[in-house]
Amino acid sequence: MLHKTTRLMHAGAPAFIDGTAPVNVPVERTSTVRFENTSSRAALQKRREAGEPVSTYGRDGRQTHRALEAGIGELESARDVLLAPSGLSAISLVFIGLLSPGDHVLVQDGVYGPVRERVEPLLTRLGVAFSYFSAADGLPHKHIQPNTKLIYAESPSSFLYEILDLPALADFAHERGVLLAADNTWGAGLLYQPLALGADISIQAVTKYLGGHSDLMQGAVSTVDAELGQRLQETHHALGLSISADDAYLALRGIRTLPIRLAQHARGAFAVASYLQRVRAVTRTFHPALASDPGHALWSRDFHGANGLVSFALRDADAAQAAAFVDALKLFGIGASWGGYESLALVAPPQRLRGQRYWAGTEAVIRLHIGLEDADDLILDLAQAFRSVAS
Ligand SMILES: *Cc1c(COP(=O)(O)O)cnc(C)c1O
Repeated sequence: MLHKTTRLMHAGAPAFIDGTAPVNVPVERTSTVRFENTSSRAALQKRREAGEPVSTYGRDGRQTHRALEAGIGELESARDVLLAPSGLSAISLVFIGLLSPGDHVLVQDGVYGPVRERVEPLLTRLGVAFSYFSAADGLPHKHIQPNTKLIYAESPSSFLYEILDLPALADFAHERGVLLAADNTWGAGLLYQPLALGADISIQAVTKYLGGHSDLMQGAVSTVDAELGQRLQETHHALGLSISADDAYLALRGIRTLPIRLAQHARGAFAVASYLQRVRAVTRTFHPALASDPGHALWSRDFHGANGLVSFALRDADAAQAAAFVDALKLFGIGASWGGYESLALVAPPQRLRGQRYWAGTEAVIRLHIGLEDADDLILDLAQAFRSVAS
């Protein structure tokens, strides 16, 4: 079997027509799909009903979309890939597609904040019960209920990068007839493969590293199970989720350079994290590639590398002092999201940190996304910001 990096460069390559083909898949924009005649339409619809991924309408996308699905399928080692207009819509697709009134979903406490803030109220209104567990307590024996249908997790967790024992959680779920879905945005499929580790569903915000250039919003849901893929597909159709061919093209283009970009993000982040560990004003550095990180052993076992995210706790700082530090940075943009080539800094929202039992500190936390700049320049910028808030 070829290495994943090699397969990623060839996934979705266009077929030869009349002996030639472009390197890149064409951007096939359309709403209406035209048919040569009525009988060819009927034949295609029949194939579609039999489960073939043939497109009979623009909402399904066409060859640009199929090529991106092939690329994400390689990344996640998935059978089915469903594209969604954002990472959050991909997450909601999984909840809405798999849960019914009276069901219960068990959610890890460190998941992406809007799951708790936006998706939980919607699902509660539709009669689905939510509760939370912390991976810091081990397997969620005490939290499982007779009506639990889904466990939803994110490893590493948002902002603090708590690493889960995903294979153990998958066994725990399956012994109880419960499905496990994992948000794989951090691992991007290249660093981490939840499906291979036992999860039933892997979700990515393509917006982040696959896009890689801070210029598109997109999500993806991947599965290895045909029946599960079918259930999600039905909800995907009902919600009419659709992405533009231009965005599908950009995401696939991002996948071609993902391996080298991630390696550079990881090098920069490790240099910055190592520097932060030596700064007296920093009480804790969060980055699983550091040997001192509590998740380091699990990370070494289950992951193939790290990305550009590093968070740190600022000694005795409240949110205002942390904001002053972020404002003093010159090379880091201030903004949410991450995964682009540019470095970013953000004060972690305190309510999101308090929601994670993993870390009990009360000082403010700053999240850095280390872009593709030279790490030495970023470290000098951080050093001047530490000096400027100390004086
Ligand atoms: C950003 C993010 C999302 C949401 O993705 P959008 O495309 O911004 O909607 C979901 N999960 C994680 C872990 C994220 O970081």
